[in-house]
Amino acid sequence: MKCWIRIVKQAKLKALREGDVMKKNNLDIKTNMVHGRRSLAEVTGAISMPIYQSATFRHPAYGESTGYDYSRVQNPTREEVEDTIALLEGGSKGFAFSTGMAAIAAMMELFSPGDHIIASDDLYGGTYRLFEEINKKNGIEVTYCDTSRIVELENNIQKNTKCLFIESPTNPTMKVTDIRQAACLAREKGLKLIVDNTFLTPYFQRPLDLGADMVVHSGTKYLGGHNDTLAGFLVTNDVDDAERIDMIHKTVGAVLSPFDSWLILRGIKTLGIRMERQQSNAMKIAQWLKSNQHVEEVYYVGLEDHPGHEINNKQSEGSGAMISFRVKDVKKARDILGRLKIISFAESLGGVESLITYPIEQTHQAIPKEIRDRIGVDEYLLRLSVGIEEAKDLIADLDQGINRE
Ligand SMILES: *Cc1c(COP(=O)(O)O)cnc(C)c1O
Repeated sequence: MKCWIRIVKQAKLKALREGDVMKKNNLDIKTNMVHGRRSLAEVTGAISMPIYQSATFRHPAYGESTGYDYSRVQNPTREEVEDTIALLEGGSKGFAFSTGMAAIAAMMELFSPGDHIIASDDLYGGTYRLFEEINKKNGIEVTYCDTSRIVELENNIQKNTKCLFIESPTNPTMKVTDIRQAACLAREKGLKLIVDNTFLTPYFQRPLDLGADMVVHSGTKYLGGHNDTLAGFLVTNDVDDAERIDMIHKTVGAVLSPFDSWLILRGIKTLGIRMERQQSNAMKIAQWLKSNQHVEEVYYVGLEDHPGHEINNKQSEGSGAMISFRVKDVKKARDILGRLKIISFAESLGGVESLITYPIEQTHQAIPKEIRDRIGVDEYLLRLSVGIEEAKDLIADLDQGINRE
């Protein structure tokens, strides 16, 4: 399929107002993660972006402004994290929200009553709940399907479809959608493609470069990386969308605080080395789980026999550190949760500390049983977010948790 997405976007980029344009640079992402955009470094010489803990900003005189008015509208620390995430994702504009859900809720304000959206069927449970409990009553209809099959995406398009919303890999069964193909389909049919890039982060995957129109993040996960901060992001290349999101962001007000912006900036500095280490641990654990007699199935995109392995390799530079696995016995699944000592039984993912969750009762509880059954979220399934600890210790912990009778 031939596709002209980049060219169209470049033309649009030109139209962005001067000063609003995220200056692209030629540095490697590894350098950009550490240095961010450094918009204010010249002013004070501070190596770490200061926390501008100010609600409001003094104007020098009538008709004059420092560029900052009130921190719901913009704050220098938040602006730095927004520009940094835009730089890493290759977007022109980034927006920082108080949580990932706040970012997705703001994104949904782009749509109107009567609009239809197609989404991955094993979506993050909170996103599903937002679509069903909040957006539906506002007249927005969502169809869920296996977006790893492009033909299913195509078959579900209706006259009023406005957007394809995907996660890749999905949560928790790690299905991979071909983002380039989805982008071509979206372009052909005049739809937006929005990708939740929480699992792989821009370090491994940059959906805008693959043709997506917008990227969503729960910054709570890998970007923050320390299980200590909630945050969310939207990044786009589209001028119209950027202007509308800007209006929604400052009007609704679920913005990221200066201190939390700083924590995410600090997290991003080590994103690359954390991702590398977490991924290498995940590969060792996935292989160990695969050879365990109590384990029925292992879902990890990095394993060669994973159905999405090849497509993931084509569109990203890594497999991340999220693993799901199915054990053969329900009692065992539940026993493991209480037995693990280093790996904590806790919701969330992406941080330096390894966590294990029970999707059916935690992250995916909001999803109806019939969908859960179809996508394989059952009592046997556990999800592991692999941290940066020593892999041998993590495996020993799993060993005593799984192999004990
Ligand atoms: C956690 C998560 C969210 C929601 O983010 P919060 O920061 O918890 O609000 C959205 N999408 C994915 C894939 C997530 O893992």
